[in-house]
Amino acid sequence: LSPVPSDIEISRAQTPKAVDILAKEIGLLADEIEIYGKSKAKVRLSLLERLKDQADGKYVLVAGITPTPLGEGKSTVTIGLVQALTAHLNINSFACLRQPSQGPTFGVKGGAAGGGYAQVIPMEEFNLHLTGDIHAITAANNLLAAAIDTRILHENTQTDKALYNRLVASVNGVREFSKIQLARLKKLGINKTDPSTLTEEEMRKFARLDIDPSTITWQRVMDTNDRFLRKITIGQGSTEKGYSRQAQFDIAVASEVMAVLALTDSLADMKERLDRMVVASDSNGQPVTTGDLGVTGALTVLMKDAIKPNLMQTLEGTPVFVHAGPFANIAHGNSSVLADKIALKLVGEEGYVVTEAGFGADIGMEKFFNIKCRASGLVPSVVVLVATVRALKMHGGGPSVTAGVPLKKEYTEENLQLVADGACNLEKQIQIAHLFGVPVVVALNVFKTDTRAEIDLVCELAKRAGAFNAVPCYHWSIGGKGSVDLAQAVREAASKKSRFQFLYDVQLPIVEKIRTIAQAVYGAEDIELSPEAQSKIDRYTEQGFGNLPICMAKTHLSLSHQPVKKGVPKDFILPISDVRASIGAGFIYPLVGTMSTMPGLPTRPCFYDIDLDTETEQVKGLF
Ligand code: ADP
Repeated sequence: LSPVPSDIEISRAQTPKAVDILAKEIGLLADEIEIYGKSKAKVRLSLLERLKDQADGKYVLVAGITPTPLGEGKSTVTIGLVQALTAHLNINSFACLRQPSQGPTFGVKGGAAGGGYAQVIPMEEFNLHLTGDIHAITAANNLLAAAIDTRILHENTQTDKALYNRLVASVNGVREFSKIQLARLKKLGINKTDPSTLTEEEMRKFARLDIDPSTITWQRVMDTNDRFLRKITIGQGSTEKGYSRQAQFDIAVASEVMAVLALTDSLADMKERLDRMVVASDSNGQPVTTGDLGVTGALTVLMKDAIKPNLMQTLEGTPVFVHAGPFANIAHGNSSVLADKIALKLVGEEGYVVTEAGFGADIGMEKFFNIKCRASGLVPSVVVLVATVRALKMHGGGPSVTAGVPLKKEYTEENLQLVADGACNLEKQIQIAHLFGVPVVVALNVFKTDTRAEIDLVCELAKRAGAFNAVPCYHWSIGGKGSVDLAQAVREAASKKSRFQFLYDVQLPIVEKIRTIAQAVYGAEDIELSPEAQSKIDRYTEQGFGNLPICMAKTHLSLSHQPVKKGVPKDFILPISDVRASIGAGFIYPLVGTMSTMPGLPTRPCFYDIDLDTETEQVKGLF
């Protein structure tokens, strides 16, 4: 239709097929799905065993140039591309997307189900609770947080013997260690299984974690943009007197449990990752883990359903997995390894799995290759790099773009000079993808104000910059048929042999890995470490965590650390203010400048427009 109706109107106008029919169409057996409502289902991991001999399909990553704060349409392109492949070219394909956080949905961004005629439906289910995975993550994260502070309290208020006796459960009057406790004893070098045989010294060692409260890195989380929780004091009640300390809430999608969900490849692996998450150091500087606190099993129970990918569909009835949604600036910004692995089996050797990496290619794509592909062992065939005329104009010196404020005339009228001047950002992002040996197809996501001359210019400049191909896409206004050219270009690029390589060897020292990313990807002259960052690097290296990949926490609005620097910033030194470690997820994350782990709400948040029609139960105002 013209004009294109709102996202929610389009979504509602299409009745999704029943999810069991979709599941059957893509070859799932009845006992391999667990249905949630009418249009969502979880897919059991047993499928991977059944299809283990099936060859994988082609693996396509959708990334983008440095975006405006409005987003340039990566989700929309991902969905438009699979709609083109499956509904118009009759080729099996799957889109694998992140589950959106409710923070941005009610805050500044609105939904993330794509847009126009390239969407996942029903979009309100996609954008709101889905099947509860983020709630499960929140529950698991906060159980662990509660375990840490309570343990400190109990260790300080009880004698060694009393603490020990309370920690070891009595089953039918006989004291027994749990499996998790036995694992802890082994770690401590105490090879005993009968609780009554431990010496006083062994009891003390077992019962006391001696957590140093000043080293606690584990924070409580929730999935709401609540800036007033960025710094809080906990333990103010009279029963916790003397144990109050400064703490904070992070947004749930920035939590390590979310990153673990996104990177794991089985229940057993998830349990091991949850077990080795480091939450603090003890008074001797040794890491204290989830396993030490005895909470691994409970966390795994809370996460047992969240690990199964969620099946949904596009507007054109093609399959989509929505699974995990780590933030891209402060976490690794990619959907789950498991969803990709299952989808690659389901589409078969001739099929395509299209997955999306958050923000610009310097952030989401770099982490996709160096962290996600390293964890999964999967080899990508093609990068689809999303560009828009408006973002290029911004990089070329156009006025600033702000969410909620109408675009200035530079963006609504033809301006070839701004496009040409801003093409340097596109060129740089193409070069970044080439560092990994993967061919690039540029998808120009066309907006109705773009002119023919602007469209032709972007495609021409992209090809000149080394892109395998560059094509305009119209899926937002006309659905999958508007991206058939993109689909054909992707097929052609995928037929070439992938020469994929990682950017750095994980065995390099932490500082060298950070420097490599800063120089090769962001174009920095060098890095500058704060004393705090240096001492953390020394500590992690000593603790044996030096050989993990790096997950940079950097602004997505510039290739540099300064959001106002557009285009391709030069002559800058990248400041590393702090370094943290997510040992269970398996990465070290340096903070570039100040990065907030809890977003705030804008003056005019999206929630003003969101409402429920109580007669029809229809959600209004999501976009
Ligand atoms: P990203 O994934 O890069 O953040 P999205 O795909 O979520 O971007 O798109 C951002 C917003 O822009 C969405 O609201 C979407 O509906 C809108 N949008 C995307 N492409 C177009 C287009 N070609 N024309 C108009 N609006 C678009």
